[in-house]
Amino acid sequence: MTDCLFCKIIKRELPSEIVYEDDDVLAFRDIKPQAPVHVLIIPKRHIASLDDLTKEDENAMGRAMLVASKLARDLGISEGYRVVTNCGKDAGQSVFHIHMHLLGGRSLGWPPG
Ligand code: 5GP
Ligand code: ZN
Repeated sequence: MTDCLFCKIIKRELPSEIVYEDDDVLAFRDIKPQAPVHVLIIPKRHIASLDDLTKEDENAMGRAMLVASKLARDLGISEGYRVVTNCGKDAGQSVFHIHMHLLGGRSLGWPPG
């Protein structure tokens, strides 16, 4: 999608600090980290939100979850981390290309706000 921030990051039209990439998934550091480790994991196919997922996204989203677990180990936070997807405006979604936040490296409160 030409107008999407994260599609532009995928196409290298915008800079980012990429920590993982394969054919279907990209992971890069959040520009405004909310924890010592804050990585965004996205499918390369443009999907607006969790609410827009279809059966054909099953593999990429499964891969994205495995990438979260691998990155947690690689980035040294496997003792405690959180994977979050905000879906829709009321949940605070601000970029409408689906993404999982991988957060760790500090104590994380519950419930989230
Ligand atoms: P949301 O609010 O949609 O759940 O999360 C969007 C995330 O994208 C936010 O944590 C925000 O800091 C991050 N973000 C917004 N613009 C950019 C950008 O240009 N580059 C990077 N790396 N992260 C961004
Ligand atoms: Zn996109």
